[in-house]
Amino acid sequence: MASSGSSTSTGSGSGSLSSLREFNRLRIVDFLRTNGTASRAELSRRTGLSRSTVSTLVSDLQRRGLVVARAGEFAGEGQPGRPAALLELDPSAGAAVGVDFNHDNVRVAVSDLSRSVLAELSANHDVDHDAEGALTLAADMIERVVADADLERERLLGVGIALAGPIDHDNGSLHPSDVLPGWSGVDVASEIERRVHAPAYVDNDANLGALAEVTLGAGRNARFAAYVSISSGVGAGIIVDGRPYRGHRGTAGEVGHVVVDPQGPICRCGNRGCLETLASGPAVLRLVGASRDEELTVKQMIELAHQGDAGCRRAIADAGQVIGGVVAGLVNLFSPEMVVIGGDLGEAGDLLLDPLREAVRRDALPAAATDLKVVAGELGERANLLGALALVLMQSEHEVAARVAGSAAA
Ligand SMILES: [Zn+2]
Repeated sequence: MASSGSSTSTGSGSGSLSSLREFNRLRIVDFLRTNGTASRAELSRRTGLSRSTVSTLVSDLQRRGLVVARAGEFAGEGQPGRPAALLELDPSAGAAVGVDFNHDNVRVAVSDLSRSVLAELSANHDVDHDAEGALTLAADMIERVVADADLERERLLGVGIALAGPIDHDNGSLHPSDVLPGWSGVDVASEIERRVHAPAYVDNDANLGALAEVTLGAGRNARFAAYVSISSGVGAGIIVDGRPYRGHRGTAGEVGHVVVDPQGPICRCGNRGCLETLASGPAVLRLVGASRDEELTVKQMIELAHQGDAGCRRAIADAGQVIGGVVAGLVNLFSPEMVVIGGDLGEAGDLLLDPLREAVRRDALPAAATDLKVVAGELGERANLLGALALVLMQSEHEVAARVAGSAAA
């Protein structure tokens, strides 16, 4: 059966591929692994294989129990009266754990290969100042979700981890900063591996929010996309050819520290007038708070804006405009097909997005912005957690390939 493959991954796997047929079979598995579901027509389009080759290979994989049709769901592209079946990897062929270390809470979930969440837990903790306590808590929660999902340990492919700061991928720790003061120099992946005895992968929350939105959310199947998260900070995850782009030092996408007003407020990074000082959740609340007696949360401010409060509407719209100017630069630099806006302030919807779109249209090169879509995220506060799950599936390609090869040999 599929889950009986070896539990370690070695080498690129190319030496064990006995034929072109197996290589093509892996391409199909690979597409389903990174995209969740697809119809046969979509598989043919995205792999460049002919419809008949895809049909043969899919039948092959279905016979081996590795690919199944998703019950009750169809792609909207079949013949009239004959909807196209949506295919997915057999969910039981593997499982992933995701961990999201947010500033004041820890979330943990476990999913199968179809990305269905089987169990999920959340707990409050002062993550920013207590790395050791947060890691121990997360390890304990991982054991609990694995037990809740009634999962055999050997099916676990690994643990994906979202952290609220830029990751130095040379040593697996956060770049020194004031963002998470207690985490400087902590090799988070190794710490989780030591506690949980499974491979662990770490990335920053904006990259993982981006990965989640392009695999499951508003940007599903976009190959080139940017995800801009506007919460206590502002960060972007950039997806290039379906994968997060991290850059040389792992700091790619730090749009929150693009200077938009050299005379603006001092930023936590030490610079002046960074985007974050003008358009993050706290920055917009400060602006609104100056003319009010009561203190608002971002959620309350958005509610008031929807009810017609002029000050709240104006503050959100101005934030959208400033963010749009920075997004325009991003669009000029790497030409995404889609920009997804998430985070607390992203929940404001078109109040934020309309002025943002307008600024992108005004400031970006028309050729880059013509058919660009700027949309709200669909995954809300679970985006980072779902991205951590997607990261495991992305990183486990050799492991999944070994299971395919193992089952093909069986
Ligand atoms: Zn800054």
